[in-house]
Amino acid sequence: MSQRLILATRNAHKVRELEAILSAAGLDLDLVGADAYPEVPDVKETGTTFAENALLKARTLARATGLPAVADDSGLCVDVLGGAPGIFSARWAGRHGDDKANLDLLLAQLSDIADPHRAAHFTCAAALALPDGTERVVEGRLPGTLRRAPAGAGGFGYDPILQPEGETRTCAELTPEEKNAISHRGRAFRELAPVIRELLS
Ligand code: IMP
Repeated sequence: MSQRLILATRNAHKVRELEAILSAAGLDLDLVGADAYPEVPDVKETGTTFAENALLKARTLARATGLPAVADDSGLCVDVLGGAPGIFSARWAGRHGDDKANLDLLLAQLSDIADPHRAAHFTCAAALALPDGTERVVEGRLPGTLRRAPAGAGGFGYDPILQPEGETRTCAELTPEEKNAISHRGRAFRELAPVIRELLS
């Protein structure tokens, strides 16, 4: 039977996305979401960096279940805002997870900023924690520029305004496969995959 690895999310879409990324990297794992362990409480994201928050989530699950766990934490970092919204990406407009309000607020804040100064990147920290206390964390980035108006119906969050470097489309206009191939999450988990293989074998 393959090794069980817990993923610190209750989002079934994320579980499937990471299953695809990790199995393409040659890992044969029984990946289950945190939903399989309802007794484990949600972790407060009290860290001040993506890496700290990802480690907090992975560590809490590994300790509570006695199984290896992976977690990620991600967001959008805008150069002219000194890296904000950053770890506050999901609640930039106040209410956690209100994607449209977050995106509208960010566009309004940047309305006077000219195109050459609209650089931004998505960042994802991916963490692995083992029950014995071993921990690893890596980061992936997707650099690009911010459009003045949303375009595209795919994706989520800030996808409709981030145009990746070298692209003419926004992330919301890419297919899920195209986005996975270049995304911050794809890059971070492809880098974490050999570390998982080494530490779990
Ligand atoms: P989390 O890592 O699921 O907590 O994501 C934090 C927030 O960052 C999300 O709510 C989005 O606003 C933003 N974000 C992270 N990754 C992406 C992405 O791939 N596309 C668009 N927005 C993202």
